[in-house]
Amino acid sequence: MSGPIAKPTIAEIEPYKAGKAKAAGFDKPIKISANENALGCSPAASEAYRALANVLHVYPDPQANALREALAQKHSLEPAQLIFGTGSDEIFSMAAQAYLNPGDEMVQPQFAFAAWAIAARAAGANVISAPERDYTVDVDAMLAAITPRTRMMFVANPASPTGTFIPFAEIKRLHAALPENVLLILDGAYAEFAERHSDFDSGFELARNASNIIVTRTFSKLYGLAALRLGWGYANPTIIQTLNKIRLPFNASSGAQAAAIAALNDTDFSARSLARVEAGGAQLSAFLRELGLTPLPAFANFVTVRVPKSAPLIALEIERALAERGILVRGLQNYSMPDCLRITIGTEAEMQALEQALRAILRA
Ligand SMILES: *Cc1c(COP(=O)(O)O)cnc(C)c1O
Repeated sequence: MSGPIAKPTIAEIEPYKAGKAKAAGFDKPIKISANENALGCSPAASEAYRALANVLHVYPDPQANALREALAQKHSLEPAQLIFGTGSDEIFSMAAQAYLNPGDEMVQPQFAFAAWAIAARAAGANVISAPERDYTVDVDAMLAAITPRTRMMFVANPASPTGTFIPFAEIKRLHAALPENVLLILDGAYAEFAERHSDFDSGFELARNASNIIVTRTFSKLYGLAALRLGWGYANPTIIQTLNKIRLPFNASSGAQAAAIAALNDTDFSARSLARVEAGGAQLSAFLRELGLTPLPAFANFVTVRVPKSAPLIALEIERALAERGILVRGLQNYSMPDCLRITIGTEAEMQALEQALRAILRA
């Protein structure tokens, strides 16, 4: 067949694989594969979303002004320096479209969020991976990966799929050594989970006047609004104006905007969500260690665990055995971490079911 031919850089893209949502034989499997909020979302956010059910004919506010003001106030940011996306994924795409030419290079850590490479490759750029040290971003390796063709760099802190963290001093050191024509995207999808650490910083101050930083955040994780697809970015006015030129006009839906405002205001729900992650994370890590597995340091709402060679089953077998019991965790084969599993911190009941299943599987 001689249909239209996709650009070669697009043909090379590995499509994104979402965390599994189905387990054969289970109507409602325990889904701890996509780092969703174990407690759901704020009831006030659901209510705000429902309240729009009869005005679906009206376009959303293209500037998301009410949400813009609410976020600016919460984080002490200039409203004009914010941009919204259909998930933070769309902000990565907009940045790649705006700043990457075919043949340019994007540098990312060895274990990186898959959407970054998709965005860069779609713009015709090549993706360069910088080795990590103990599953943690290595700033020296990131800097060493820079060539004259480098135009963009991604770092998530805390990171996914590893869950590890680097002190903000390291981010500052990375930025200070970065050529000014390289755009640094600081993906803060899990930032809220690390705020309690003294060496954490949002990066907003650094981005405020920097010529080459975008900080991104999402409503998909702590706020539990993954279904509504809403993320945002903060950068200097020049970058924001550039991204706005290619942003599709009504990319943040009315329901997403309304639910996000309600979610921001429901500080009780956010606090409970954070408390669940803190308690559940410590418990899960301790349990995995007790089973002879090796959890990585966990700074987000999930624990990534290595399955040592001495374990009776390999990671893929454990993933499958859990699925047979209706429990879905994320295998990391396509993240080049075949001996690891990524487990979202669920409710207490979900974690108990996981513990019981893992005990049975690993003692069998
Ligand atoms: C979940 C996640 C995101 C958020 O993506 P959205 O498009 O906002 O849902 C971004 N970066 C990383 C590393 C993530 O794990």
